[in-house]
Amino acid sequence: MTNTNDLKSKLLEEKARLEGELSGVGHRNPKIAGDWEPSAPDLNNPTADVNDVADSIEAFEENSAIEVELEARLLEVDSALARIEAGTYGICRICGEKIEDARLEANPSAPTCIAHREG
Ligand SMILES: [Zn+2]
Repeated sequence: MTNTNDLKSKLLEEKARLEGELSGVGHRNPKIAGDWEPSAPDLNNPTADVNDVADSIEAFEENSAIEVELEARLLEVDSALARIEAGTYGICRICGEKIEDARLEANPSAPTCIAHREG
């Protein structure tokens, strides 16, 4: 039997790590709680030439891609934590069966059993 408290502390650690990484590429959306947006480069810099602007845009696109990926993982971690609070943690959201302990240990935020994993 997997110890939910252990998994919960793993999830909280993961959440803190993801939020740390997110604050490197983005910032919290002040309008939507729990939402993050990528940080925009400073395009108003009067000394920036065309190449600098192109570099900034490239950097911004890279940041955006990382930000989206981190935010998706953070959402999974958050919803796993919410399921722990609701008492529905460890139940596959597709078939309603118990998620294998080994799967939860490998990925504590997994929302589905091994048969219903989505990649
Ligand atoms: Zn399932």
